[in-house]
Amino acid sequence: MKYCMKCLMPDTRPDMEFNENGICAACVFAEQSRTEIDWEQKKEELQEIARWARENNNGGYDCAIGVSGGKDSTFQALYARDELGLNCLLVNCYPDGITEVGKHNLENLVNHGFDMVSWRPNPKIMRALMRFSFYEYGNPVKPSEYPLFAVTYQTAFAHRIPLIIQGENPGLTLGSTKGYGKNGNAFNIAMGNTLRGGNASDWAVDGIELKQLLLYQFPDKEEMEKSNIRAVYLQFYVKEWSPDHNAEFSVAHGLLGRKDYDWRRMGKYSRYGSVDSDFQLFNPMIKYYKFGESNWTECYSKMIRSGEINRMEAMAAVRKWDGYCDEEHIKKCCDYMEISVDEFWRVMEKKWINKKLFKKDESGKWVPRFTPGVDFDENSVGI
Ligand SMILES: [Zn+2]
Repeated sequence: MKYCMKCLMPDTRPDMEFNENGICAACVFAEQSRTEIDWEQKKEELQEIARWARENNNGGYDCAIGVSGGKDSTFQALYARDELGLNCLLVNCYPDGITEVGKHNLENLVNHGFDMVSWRPNPKIMRALMRFSFYEYGNPVKPSEYPLFAVTYQTAFAHRIPLIIQGENPGLTLGSTKGYGKNGNAFNIAMGNTLRGGNASDWAVDGIELKQLLLYQFPDKEEMEKSNIRAVYLQFYVKEWSPDHNAEFSVAHGLLGRKDYDWRRMGKYSRYGSVDSDFQLFNPMIKYYKFGESNWTECYSKMIRSGEINRMEAMAAVRKWDGYCDEEHIKKCCDYMEISVDEFWRVMEKKWINKKLFKKDESGKWVPRFTPGVDFDENSVGI
């Protein structure tokens, strides 16, 4: 387990890329953003893409934007309309068990003056797939990520909308650029570790047929390009893009944060991030036991990059809180998957807790063998 020399991202996270100086791709991008990147030029490039989209309009919308109503998509939609002059169609994938705050934020966004289509994947299928995905991949939210992204591409494809505007390139934010790439091309969204190409056939399991999984299928990338459709990440072109900026902007435009927000349980960015579903509090804990890093590592790594905190301070906070999840949320998510909490922990111990990174203490609790930020030779652990 090797850490970035600047932030706290470890190489145990899939698709991480480090340069010859041991610095992760997210820190390299953050540094380039401050020093090398000509943001004025990028803005002009984006204006040019917007002009192209207006000229290639097929009699309807200029662009499609996938939205949850959260801080990033609120900023995306208003920026695309007001700064880029685009006629936007918002595309939503309605999550199962949406929170009240999530409902409010979606309503708030539409009321700023947009058309929106909302897709709702069959909850029975989603529930079965989440359970399957926990046992098979140790990642219950994996199936929900497919329609979350795919419906925007499908809607654009079906309605011949020339431009798709995505928000963040996760590679540039987390350093996992081996899958997502480092540029502004948002067709790569399906190439990350979670979606692995975005084929619905991944979920034709347990009697679920492929024809029931249309919302889980990404349109063929080449077909879309042939149809003269482009997809961009706004983050790649817009200097002000950041979690803090987007939250501040969106709150000023009516966004609400979690009412039950407790920074110790959720990490700094969770008040306004992923507020539409409580699974966003559960899955990070599972991820922590698999890779030894989770929301706190990612959130504090961003804060190191922006200069809000130094690496030593961040190490202490991450050590204390990363991977924490309330019993209440574990119970809620187990209930959703229709498994008992005991069964959940039995499977975690058997399959998903990385024994090279974690060990049981005297009280039977799984604790890290490593210290966040300090390189650790997990292969020296005899298990
Ligand atoms: Zn880094």
